[in-house]
Amino acid sequence: MALDSKIPKGPIKDKWTDYKNHINLVNPANKRHIDVIVVGTGLAGGSASATLAELGYNVKAFAYQDSPRRAHSIAAQGGINAAKNYQGDGDSTYRLFYDTVKGGDYRSREANVYRLAEVSANIIDQCVAQGVPFARDYGGLLDNRSFGGVLVSRTFYAKGQTGQQLLLGAYSAMNRQIARGKIEMFNRHEMLDVVVVDGKARGIIARNLVTGEIERHSAHAVVIASGGYGNVYFLSTNAMGSNVTAGWKVHKKGAYFANPCYTQIHPTCIPRSGDYQSKLTLMSESLRNDGRIWVPKNLDDVKAIREGSKKPTELTEDQRDYYLERRYPAFGNLVPRDVASRAAKERCDAGYGVNATGEAVYLDFVASFERYGKEQAKIQNISNPSEAKIKELGQEIVKAKYGNLFQMYEKIVDENPYETPMMIYPAVHYTMGGVWVDYNLMTTIPGCYAIGEANFSDHGANRLGASALMQGLADGYFVLPYTIGDYLADDIRTGKISTESSEFEAAEKEVTERIEFFINNEGTHSVDYYHKKLGKIMWDKCGMSRNAEGLEIAIEEISALRKDFWQNVNVPGTSTEYNEQLAKAGRVADFLELGELFAKDALVREESAGGHFREEHQTEDGEAKRIKEFQFVSAWEYKGEPKDAVLHKEELAYENIEVKERSYK
Ligand SMILES: Cc1cc2nc3c(=O)[nH]c(=O)nc-3n(C[C@H](O)[C@H](O)[C@H](O)COP(=O)(O)OP(=O)(O)OC[C@H]3O[C@@H](n4cnc5c(N)ncnc54)[C@H](O)[C@@H]3O)c2cc1C
Repeated sequence: MALDSKIPKGPIKDKWTDYKNHINLVNPANKRHIDVIVVGTGLAGGSASATLAELGYNVKAFAYQDSPRRAHSIAAQGGINAAKNYQGDGDSTYRLFYDTVKGGDYRSREANVYRLAEVSANIIDQCVAQGVPFARDYGGLLDNRSFGGVLVSRTFYAKGQTGQQLLLGAYSAMNRQIARGKIEMFNRHEMLDVVVVDGKARGIIARNLVTGEIERHSAHAVVIASGGYGNVYFLSTNAMGSNVTAGWKVHKKGAYFANPCYTQIHPTCIPRSGDYQSKLTLMSESLRNDGRIWVPKNLDDVKAIREGSKKPTELTEDQRDYYLERRYPAFGNLVPRDVASRAAKERCDAGYGVNATGEAVYLDFVASFERYGKEQAKIQNISNPSEAKIKELGQEIVKAKYGNLFQMYEKIVDENPYETPMMIYPAVHYTMGGVWVDYNLMTTIPGCYAIGEANFSDHGANRLGASALMQGLADGYFVLPYTIGDYLADDIRTGKISTESSEFEAAEKEVTERIEFFINNEGTHSVDYYHKKLGKIMWDKCGMSRNAEGLEIAIEEISALRKDFWQNVNVPGTSTEYNEQLAKAGRVADFLELGELFAKDALVREESAGGHFREEHQTEDGEAKRIKEFQFVSAWEYKGEPKDAVLHKEELAYENIEVKERSYK
């Protein structure tokens, strides 16, 4: 099948406007005869459901949690980007577009990203109108902070709980429509297949997770907003329930899956503590605005710290290696995530990791306590403040900005991060890959759309911080409501879609048989046993550094593990009760298929991109040589190397990476 991205013609800055001026519309009276299914009610699905219902469509929304408020989006901490230029520091639509394309290692679809940057400003207005309590500055205006890979402050935030506040906004917009009867909400329902009739997505098969009942639901279009699949690694910062099933089912019914191996490894997570852990915790990237990352310069100090005979606070400035500031002076601690993660791994691989596992670096706030404390002393007219007073004043400011994150760290690690630096290490966090979509956000199955983290389109090989919330809400509030109308305009006379067709019957049969298999198999190993094993293969062989030999082994190992799973998995309980293990069995079965595709994708990409280094062959000094291919965008401004690619140049020089040029259309 030839892929057609359906990017409108014309200059990039006019595409979206021209597109909207010329698409087909569905008139208000006809919208009430059209049904849309939305799978997922996180920020992407919640905002889409509310907006489509407000427009007049009949929406059926599905979530496996007991409320849309519990979608994984609620965990988002640091903020949401928008090109408002409130700080007057040089931001613009173009800059946000440019940063996103560059941050994604030139592998995003530029037309989508330009549209994203354009609508970003509307998102903030929309959310403020909903009452989202974004942080404000002294004068009462909306405040901003910086995230990695950019030179401006464009991130809007609500302390360390931005996702929660945004989701409450989307949820209240949804609730209005639920009360009006325009959204029918199916909590605790899991979509287990998509139904394709005459080549078009016309419904889903869902399981009521409380009663076990299998249900058929029809609609004129199906929107997948099911989030990311980072849990294919078992350990990640994602919510425990995040999974690939909805995306994988549409893939198996004919939707293409793009860039499955592009995973974001976030640099600031609480390090793993042992083999029995089931979850990793993020420390928001916003902390890099005020925290400095370092490891000891000297291996003796590393050893003493690991043995407990020295504390990190005892090391003087010249005994510390602030390696990001040293390597990347233009961006310092705010380099993009992929760069920060690789640099942490490089230091830890070289033996400088500061905890028992050797996989941790410090994130230190002492300099900020001092900087803010001195400023506050001046503001409060305190002359000759003591060091203790300065620290106290500075800590109050840091607490106001990131208090909940510090509290969370202390609860998990049992160390007070105001007194000793935090320890952090990279962890799986986000998946840039996902279901392939065209400019309309439609998959290769007509009438089936994918939005938010579930699709692949906007972030290339690496997503910049605070841009997932932006994309999810852009898709849901401002993009899909237009693009879906263009498709649905052909359906105004179709009438209700029947669920009594052979296609619904066949899909339901397949779902039921799989559930019965799990319950009746009575094997020897738990679902988690397989999930953990898969996660280890993924992290060891398809993680930050990858090589052809390891990937080939991973493909074999995953395939063997999958066979073992289907023979020996054990699912306790019955299919007619709330059975968490049964639901998880289906999700892990899909992860076991995705994992193999993931490794195959990584194998054929003979390149390093984003957080992933492809180690190809040995150099003379025995070090694995890394290949980095840059895709330069021939159709857009960058002909040859972007002039301000300071960061990439610094990085490439430091890491001795071979640069190959390739043009991309
Ligand atoms: C700890 C953490 C912090 C983050 N902080 C930030 C941040 O500060 N800024 C930022 O921009 N991004 C951040 N991100 C990323 C961002 O939170 C996510 O990318 C984004 O929230 C995804 O939104 P979504 O609506 O696409 O999916 P989700 O919020 O994951 O929602 C998925 C929905 O799909 C439903 N679902 C899934 N499968 C099925 C199925 N088969 N059947 C029925 N329903 C299903 C779920 O019930 C849920 O409602 C963070 C991520 C993490 C892990």
